[in-house]
Amino acid sequence: MKLARVVLASNNPGKLRELGELLAPLGVELVAQGSLGIGEAEEPHPSFVENAIAKARHAARASGLPALADDSGICVDALGGAPGVHSARWAQLAGGPRTDEANNARLLGQLAGVSDRSACYVCVLVLLRSAGDPQPVIAEGNWCGELVDVARGSGGFGYDPHFLLPELGRTAAQLSAQRKHAMSHRGQATRLLVQRLKAMRLV
Ligand code: IMP
Repeated sequence: MKLARVVLASNNPGKLRELGELLAPLGVELVAQGSLGIGEAEEPHPSFVENAIAKARHAARASGLPALADDSGICVDALGGAPGVHSARWAQLAGGPRTDEANNARLLGQLAGVSDRSACYVCVLVLLRSAGDPQPVIAEGNWCGELVDVARGSGGFGYDPHFLLPELGRTAAQLSAQRKHAMSHRGQATRLLVQRLKAMRLV
């Protein structure tokens, strides 16, 4: 089976563009679930992979098409992996606003006086050929660095200004979009996904 039309289990225009551009040369047309009238899925699970599977299954079931989903976030060693799947809403869960600034402020507050600053960004992409597909195509990327108190750089988003790559002496927000993609959890996962799809002769 070759993939032709795949529903993206997200309405994020950035993700649609990035993943769509990657898949178009492989003959795959990516359509946002919102354009098919499909609403957001619940993300009740504690792990990225479980949530990505739940989102892809929801979109595949509602559309009758193969579906692609992603889930991502940052995991801090000293916090037992938190914020993890709650990264986007970390401040909101503590009664604050849903903004990058508030998320960073809460996270760095939790790390006050903590010497272990290791953290990894994680991205999991899942492709299901159908809602009941017993063989999900799963691609994960990990990008590890250290959280720093003082923000540096204006690129990227989310936790990037505080995410230092010690080997580069820069934060993720100080990298060009191209360089970030070459290294990041999302870049790794997307390249791996394409490799897996080719190996499975789906593209
Ligand atoms: P989602 O996958 O769009 O739900 O994003 C999860 C959350 O993880 C984002 O809102 C950010 O807070 C964080 N995150 C994921 N990837 C990155 C990244 O590349 N840079 C900064 N923050 C990220």
